[in-house]
Amino acid sequence: MTQETLFSKIIRREIPATIVYEDDEVLGFKDIAPQAPVHVLFIPKNHIIPTLDDLTAEQAHLIGKLALAAAGYARREGFAEDGYRIVMNCREDAGQTVFHIHMHLLAGAPLGHFGA
Ligand code: IMP
Repeated sequence: MTQETLFSKIIRREIPATIVYEDDEVLGFKDIAPQAPVHVLFIPKNHIIPTLDDLTAEQAHLIGKLALAAAGYARREGFAEDGYRIVMNCREDAGQTVFHIHMHLLAGAPLGHFGA
């Protein structure tokens, strides 16, 4: 069963967000608690998929759409040459807090390594 999250409200413009990218399938908006100088979230607009683990083969193309939206945004904003990070957190051990799949784009500074 899929539950609406606050990201559904952002899609419907019911709560404010700084939207930086939109097409028919993907919305990109600034993270409210940025972890890098540039921190944008890319989400599917028409599907509520709680975690990456819930993604079906029929929905797999959505991950490519999110990645293309993120990479295109990074390129247009001038981060492609120096680089950037894409992150998807899956469930509690990864720190997932919003259960509507999203791709984090982090850029604008050297990011260091991550892990435990
Ligand atoms: P997660 O931890 O991978 O689930 O990422 C959820 C992200 O959503 C976090 O980085 C939060 O800072 C971000 N977030 C939570 N609420 C809002 C909001 O209302 N607007 C924008 N970003 C949000």
